[in-house]
Amino acid sequence: MNNEIKLEFDAISANESFARVAVAAFVTPVNPTLEEIADVKTAVSEAVTNAIIHGYDGKRGKVFLHCILRERTIHIEVKDTGKGIDDVDKAMEPLFTTRPELDRSGMGFSFMEAFMDDLQVLSAPGAGTCVVMDKRFADVSSGPYEE
Ligand code: ATP
Ligand code: MG
Repeated sequence: MNNEIKLEFDAISANESFARVAVAAFVTPVNPTLEEIADVKTAVSEAVTNAIIHGYDGKRGKVFLHCILRERTIHIEVKDTGKGIDDVDKAMEPLFTTRPELDRSGMGFSFMEAFMDDLQVLSAPGAGTCVVMDKRFADVSSGPYEE
């Protein structure tokens, strides 16, 4: 069974937790493990935080969250129409940050890469950024009480 949601919300930090919880609720029907849910929540949180603090730099804007569940694979897109990224390869390097003064550690993309099965970052300076992530949830093993 496939399922799809699209959410659009203001780029303010109060909505980071909304996005995490929304995605967690969306995947619940396929019974992911607690660890898998935590992985997806962390990845979404990192992408949404990036859109808010880097993409829009504290200015007004919208974050677009698009999720598709196909069987046991979740496809997630987190998009902003903010300032974009000049050099995506460089931005994705561990520990690279353009905002050290904000106590950023430059690990957001590394976490997304570690917690998801696939990560692609599409960006154009001046136009915005779209983070595309996929994760396949392990098959549900039959428990001791199942026939
Ligand atoms: P951390 O995530 O550890 O707090 P960080 O956000 O700087 O630190 P990453 O999430 O890995 O680290 O992002 C690396 C860099 O990529 C950022 O410092 C920023 O320059 C750029 N970047 C990431 N996402 C966006 C975005 N949506 N729009 C513009 N620039 C971005
Ligand atoms: Mg980050």
